[in-house]
Amino acid sequence: MLSFKKIRLAESCLPLSTIGEFGIIKRLRTRHAGKSPEILKGIGDDAAALKIKSQITLITTDMLLEEIHFDLSFTTFYQLGYKILAVSISDILAMGGKPRYFLLGMGLPATCLASDIDELYSGIMNLAKKFKVSVIGGDTCASGKGLVLSGTLLGEAKGIITRSGARPGDAIFVTDSLGDSAMGLELLKKLKIKKPGPRLFGTNLKALSPDIRTLIKKHLMPEPKALEKTSGITSMIDVSDGLLMDLSHICDESNAGALIYIDKIPISKELALAAKKMGADPLKFALKGGEDYILLFTAPSDIKINAVRIGEIIKKGRCLVDARGRKTPFKAEGYEHFKTKSYSVHRTA
Ligand code: ADP
Ligand code: MG
Repeated sequence: MLSFKKIRLAESCLPLSTIGEFGIIKRLRTRHAGKSPEILKGIGDDAAALKIKSQITLITTDMLLEEIHFDLSFTTFYQLGYKILAVSISDILAMGGKPRYFLLGMGLPATCLASDIDELYSGIMNLAKKFKVSVIGGDTCASGKGLVLSGTLLGEAKGIITRSGARPGDAIFVTDSLGDSAMGLELLKKLKIKKPGPRLFGTNLKALSPDIRTLIKKHLMPEPKALEKTSGITSMIDVSDGLLMDLSHICDESNAGALIYIDKIPISKELALAAKKMGADPLKFALKGGEDYILLFTAPSDIKINAVRIGEIIKKGRCLVDARGRKTPFKAEGYEHFKTKSYSVHRTA
């Protein structure tokens, strides 16, 4: 029989493509999670939460890497600036908090111009104004290969909503339609929408038809939206890696199962039309497509809230339920670094 030590040794030799992003996070969480009475939440949620002198501070950090998260032939610096802040705002909202202070680390390749940074910050400041976020610092370095952005956002909260509070009997809600961003990316690649130019490219949204613009804009410039009220919510996450993956995080952390009613999943008319034209199933985008940056939460089923009810939390098992009540088990499939092919290849496959 293999000893525990040998199993651990064998595991540490596994390639990242086998362990995956979430396997690595699990290892770090088991081995290195900080412990202090001030840490309300450490590794394992959308943001860390610290309670210092009765004040709760939320902290989240997210990276956007060229060739992994974006392709400069599809996105402008303005759109990138907007997105690097949007993804972090989404995490603070998912903890039930209010975004406040932002820091940006930049690794810049030699091809960048000062005007590119102006454009990037113009995108950041536009969204920062909407959420009353202040930029308070960052770091600036040369990058040997590709553009690297690393955003850190601090937020404040009166209480926190974690991924671990879902209970059997709770209903599952989402705040907006799913799959639009993944379809937006698919369209960018299929239509090869590029602004011709000698150096960097980017998508000129104004030149697109309204339906296509809506989908592509949702991918390039996601619009995080806060819930009007959070009282009664038992668990929450933002949908960044796809509905099945992110709901699985809630199930894992809450030690519970889930049923998703397929015909209740909100699919926008734009996604439905684009999928029809492509001969694709819009549901594939809605279930496994990432980067919607909408909120997925659970709450007692009698809650009055402005969101779409798509399922319920059960004790055990994870199934999709069709209109006739037939159940199909689902797995935590969606986007996972090292396991899913990167942006420049195909993110939603
Ligand atoms: P999200 O998609 O909401 O940004 P992630 O899936 O990136 O969340 O991260 C999940 C959890 O793992 C978070 O608590 C995050 O802080 C933690 N985490 C991710 N990478 C690391 C790391 N390199 N070291 C420590 N914790 C990490
Ligand atoms: Mg998140």
